[in-house]
Amino acid sequence: MYTLTNVKAYYDSPRGPIKAVDDVSLEIRPNEILGIAGESGCGKSTLIKVIYGHINPPLRLVSGEIRAEMKDNGQVSVLSAKDLPKVWWEFISYVPQASMSVLNPVMRIENQFFDAVSRFHRAGNREQIRQQVADYLQELDLPVEVLKAYPHQLSGGMRQRVLVALATFLHPQIILADEPTTALDVVVQRGILRMLTRVQQTMGNTLIIVSHDMGVHYQITHRMAIMYAGQLVEVGPTERIFSAAQHPYTEMLIKSLPRIGDHSAREGISGRPPSLLDPPPGCPFAPRCPHAMDICTQARPPLVQIEDDHLSACFLHEEAMAAAHAQKVGAQS
Ligand code: SF4
Repeated sequence: MYTLTNVKAYYDSPRGPIKAVDDVSLEIRPNEILGIAGESGCGKSTLIKVIYGHINPPLRLVSGEIRAEMKDNGQVSVLSAKDLPKVWWEFISYVPQASMSVLNPVMRIENQFFDAVSRFHRAGNREQIRQQVADYLQELDLPVEVLKAYPHQLSGGMRQRVLVALATFLHPQIILADEPTTALDVVVQRGILRMLTRVQQTMGNTLIIVSHDMGVHYQITHRMAIMYAGQLVEVGPTERIFSAAQHPYTEMLIKSLPRIGDHSAREGISGRPPSLLDPPPGCPFAPRCPHAMDICTQARPPLVQIEDDHLSACFLHEEAMAAAHAQKVGAQS
């Protein structure tokens, strides 16, 4: 289990803090595929950095708690944000979106595996590691010949597959994938998604996938967290998100999805997400929301449970209205 509780992580800037993750609470469960969705600029990639424990200036953990339970040989250790970099690769691993910027261009793939494994893991000798890597690539249906290649000699899709193999080689309990299919053609995308889900099913670990593409979430995730302006606005089972979205923003994201056989014009979402430097008071979606009411510009709607395992932050729900009222009364007394 991994939990974030009221986490705020801001980028320091000369114009003030950029509130990329602003009071996020989220439970990450074992053996699930969790999707984080939302438009560009809503804080998804920063949230992934925070979950990974990659919090370096100008990014700063302002407040809140990060708590991860790592199981190792039957023992459970409790980790905080500062402990996470020590357990990268073994406990938590990251598949970034730009494979070329991550893989060392002047190092053969084989040496990149060796480098990563020996730096972060109780490694055996080089020949043992080489054999283990070759076996693992075969398990993933990747040609062993890639080990002798330099990154530029591989296609974008193959480089991305190599990154998935590299990130999962040590069987981490949590795998983070940030837009892993961006800039790849549809067939390659499908292959990468299939590879990620296969790895997750085989290892029984947690896969967290960030994508602005709702179609990706529909295909592979079990649960989804919808992010807007650095905040979570809806969290729930993927099936319920698509069949009974509770937040107007989620509804609009789903309506903008193309459907096979439906040739009617898709509804885009007018306007843009607010600046994270100066988000509007109250509900950050209010300037774009067709249902906005007076209260929406005055108070921030809390994330409340609407149905079993399904949370939403919108004043259209009586539960959110009641929680906001209780908060106000509490603050006044
Ligand atoms: Fe729209 Fe108000 Fe709900 Fe925000 S709280 S999504 S502005 S109805």
